[in-house]
Amino acid sequence: MRAFECDDGGLRVVFGTGTLARLGEELDRLGGRRALVLSTPRRGELVSRVVAGLGGAAAGVFDGAVMHTPVEVTEAALARAAELGADSVVSAGGGTTTGLGKAVAHRLGVPHVVLPTTYAGSEVTPVLGETSGGRKTTTTDPAIRPDTVIYDVSLTMGLPWPVTVTSAVNSMAHAVEALYAPGRTGATDRMATGSIAALATGLRRLPGDPEEARAELLYGAYLAGLCLGAVGMGLHHKLCHTLGGSFGLPHAPLHTVVLPYAMDYNAPAAPDAMRAVADALGVADAPAGLQRFARSLGAPADLAGLGFDAADVDRAAGLATQRPYPNPRPVTRDGVADLLRRALTGQSIGGPR
Ligand code: NAD
Repeated sequence: MRAFECDDGGLRVVFGTGTLARLGEELDRLGGRRALVLSTPRRGELVSRVVAGLGGAAAGVFDGAVMHTPVEVTEAALARAAELGADSVVSAGGGTTTGLGKAVAHRLGVPHVVLPTTYAGSEVTPVLGETSGGRKTTTTDPAIRPDTVIYDVSLTMGLPWPVTVTSAVNSMAHAVEALYAPGRTGATDRMATGSIAALATGLRRLPGDPEEARAELLYGAYLAGLCLGAVGMGLHHKLCHTLGGSFGLPHAPLHTVVLPYAMDYNAPAAPDAMRAVADALGVADAPAGLQRFARSLGAPADLAGLGFDAADVDRAAGLATQRPYPNPRPVTRDGVADLLRRALTGQSIGGPR
């Protein structure tokens, strides 16, 4: 099993099993004495373990985190922090909880410790996506990045299978887009392929060897998060940003359905990246192989099943192409609309169009 700790340019990472036991000491290192503990609803057992781990340094709990960080929820959490006199934030959960933790800690200028329980990767990025009035905006600022991340594999053991699969593919998306990002380096390429291989291995091994598999998955998620924080993302992330923020589609399932189509769109313009993804996944063709692999694990296959409507295709394509951004293949409104129509019905990649 992998276990390590490192300090990397202001980000401290503690990785292993049972590392929740380090929480009190890690918060103390940052000067936190009264932590506000954040979670999504119905994670009582996790919250109790975190509060116990904090001992006297737990000021109180706010368990109302909501996906895509709506500003009104952030305001409610800030009010709770003020009521408790909190001087630090501990986020225990997936990307939803980490997003709220970033929003609160950044506004208050207090230390932030994250205990990730999914594979979202947000815990190591300086990026915060927030929604207000049905629009999602993204802020990038080094001060948004949490101070310390405690990866405890044991906190992920109970992650339900469907969330495990979609969360792992969401994580792969960061690594895939890093392989054709303009700012990529040899180091980010290595992190990206290492991440994809670890995530694929973790998913394949999960039924037989859950502890080792969960360690692989969490490690792969950490590497993918580093990729996401290091380089800009392309078509896949911009499109999912629009579909999540403006159409309310669930984050990780959405990424899981869209990723093979976004890869298929970019494949002619990024053959080396696709070869690297295929090798890391152990498949012949990256877009088709990833789609088949995810479907073999029971992943959602089409956007219609996530609540996306055919009548919204043109509006979504318009919103997703409003502003230009770097992408290996030029992003056109017609091209995105075609991609969305294929994803809507879950057309097989490599099969009849
Ligand atoms: P999530 O945090 O909403 O978790 C999904 C569900 O699983 C929730 O109901 C949660 O309560 C539950 N859950 C989480 N961990 C569990 C566990 N170990 N056992 C049982 N249940 C568990 O979903 P997510 O996909 O992790 O995060 C999505 C959010 O993260 C989105 O808002 C997205 O925008 C954001 N995100 C941000 C970044 C970034 O860098 N800013 C990166 C990735 C994702």
